[in-house]
Amino acid sequence: MSMIIDEFSFDHPENKGYGKSKRLRLLSSSDPQFSTIEKNFSKGWKHSNKPKPKVHAVFKILSSDSNLKPYHRYRALVLSSPALRNRTKNPANEQLLFHGTNRFCRLGEDGSRVRLCNLSRCHLCCIIRNSFDVRKCGTKNKFRRFGTGIYTTACSSKADDYTLNGDQSSKFQVQLVSRVVVGNPHKRRQNSTGLTEPPCGHHSVVGEPGVDLNYEETVVYDNDAIRPAYLVVYGEMPESKSKLRALITTLFKTPLAS
Ligand SMILES: [Zn+2]
Repeated sequence: MSMIIDEFSFDHPENKGYGKSKRLRLLSSSDPQFSTIEKNFSKGWKHSNKPKPKVHAVFKILSSDSNLKPYHRYRALVLSSPALRNRTKNPANEQLLFHGTNRFCRLGEDGSRVRLCNLSRCHLCCIIRNSFDVRKCGTKNKFRRFGTGIYTTACSSKADDYTLNGDQSSKFQVQLVSRVVVGNPHKRRQNSTGLTEPPCGHHSVVGEPGVDLNYEETVVYDNDAIRPAYLVVYGEMPESKSKLRALITTLFKTPLAS
């Protein structure tokens, strides 16, 4: 009998019926995970010039054990680091962080749109399918503040700047929430564009607001330091409010809290 690696695995009893072609599980708004993501999203919305959007839905992203195993292996390696010896709570400093990217399909637009598309320009589906790839860093944004790494942030309004809906009929915005092994971060305020790995003894680079940066960002340099975990669906719709509410209620089959 094989061991179930974690709750994000297809093999977890909660995820029956899910698999390679169906990776997104819609969370009920009463699910504690929904509340955690909604809370983080709301707390992380820091741009005062952008009105805070409502979270419409949260999907959990499920993967195969073979996709999750390297992440667990990496986390175990980080745990053995002397720098983290004295951490008792959340010893690998694992965090849930936001990432905004291109979406050229309508994944997540409603509870039934849970199948990944095959468009190579749809970075969202590529990341959900294969997780992040450090080699693709900078394909969208040439400027890399902390070098060649995978960029995430606790600031949802910053990740929002990087989202792009390629399908004009999209009614919502979406962001990825990933599990990130931050380990012992190297905190810095100045840019360092030549980095390809964290400085010795560290596992990530955390850019702190101040000199070169307005909002926090966290960079990891190893593909196995990160796995997509949730998809947050949020934002405004152009229709009138009452029509909007009725539609969402139908789509997600859950009444909206007001
Ligand atoms: Zn897609």
